[in-house]
Amino acid sequence: MSQREQKPLVPPNVERMIAYKPGKPIEELERELGITGAIKLASNENPFGPSPKVLAAMRAAVEDVRFYPDGAGHEARSAIARFLSRPTEEVVIGNGSNELIDLICRTFAAPGDHMVFGKPSFVCYWLGATATNVDYTEVPLIENLAWDVQAMLDAVTPRTKILFLANPNNPTGAHISEDELVHLLSSLPEDVVAVLDEAYFEFATADDYATALKHLHLHERTLVLRTLSKAYGLAGMRVGYATGPAALVGYLHRMRAPFNVNLVAQAAVAPALEDQAWVQRYVDFNAEERVRVAAALRELGLRPAPSQGNFLLVDFGRPGRDVYDVLLRRGVITRPMPAPIDTWLRISLGTREENDRMLSAAAEEVRGR
Ligand SMILES: *Cc1c(COP(=O)(O)O)cnc(C)c1O
Repeated sequence: MSQREQKPLVPPNVERMIAYKPGKPIEELERELGITGAIKLASNENPFGPSPKVLAAMRAAVEDVRFYPDGAGHEARSAIARFLSRPTEEVVIGNGSNELIDLICRTFAAPGDHMVFGKPSFVCYWLGATATNVDYTEVPLIENLAWDVQAMLDAVTPRTKILFLANPNNPTGAHISEDELVHLLSSLPEDVVAVLDEAYFEFATADDYATALKHLHLHERTLVLRTLSKAYGLAGMRVGYATGPAALVGYLHRMRAPFNVNLVAQAAVAPALEDQAWVQRYVDFNAEERVRVAAALRELGLRPAPSQGNFLLVDFGRPGRDVYDVLLRRGVITRPMPAPIDTWLRISLGTREENDRMLSAAAEEVRGR
């Protein structure tokens, strides 16, 4: 019998993958510490949840779950198209925008190609690049954790197929100005797919913020990602969407899994988009709390980065993992950060009561040093 060389079980890029580490669930912390009443400010979730009209629509939809969902997601996509004033052919829905990030990587890039994204930015771009075995350049954010749009452009090579930019960014909260957005889209080589991830777009209040939807004509190969997980309070349902030219969206439809968005999630989309008053109440509340909580943190001698999201990235000036543990013991779950921002914690903005609890835990941590 001829000797057969043992092949590794998985290809090297799969070996490099790291399982996504989500925010710690409340139940897990309560079990571990034997406490109750813990709060979670770790995953940028909406503390008020979805509109009651959305909950009613989802409850009704549960009655139909013996059926497969609409594979084309027609009703949900039409509602999104109406909301954006764009044709339905320019919309694809995903099992969260996380799925769409992965799908974009698999659809538009192949081994040998290259991608550009920020550091620190959303970890799912790295996961998508690694899973598809595509090279990448991570462009550091600059002072004050702001985007360096020119550096992003400079990182583009002849092999670059995709550029991801989260605007506002996660975990820093930084946004790019409309001028920078225009510069980016008008300077990018035509063959690069620009992906503007607008997961936090609803929370942006800066005068110079603009959605990429306003400037799609500047760069044909542009996709805008949005999600119902954050402002719409539907993180657990897993619905996001991508919009862009029908040619690009058409390839995403070819590559997505059949029935990628479940029936209950599809039923949530139209009522969620129709109840803008519900979303606006949360967005306005978040904008006020962002100012109030950032000021309170600064008063403690801490440094929150400027944020356009529903969270603050805060420098505690010592190992964030230790601060994270101190806050955990006080029943407050936040999100520790990897190097080079490992003295920072990302803290989601919750209800006023939750934010106050976080602030007193942070104050105790500072005093206890
Ligand atoms: C939360 C988030 C998303 C949305 O994820 P879903 O899969 O839609 O829940 C996308 N991009 C960024 C930058 C995010 O922070």
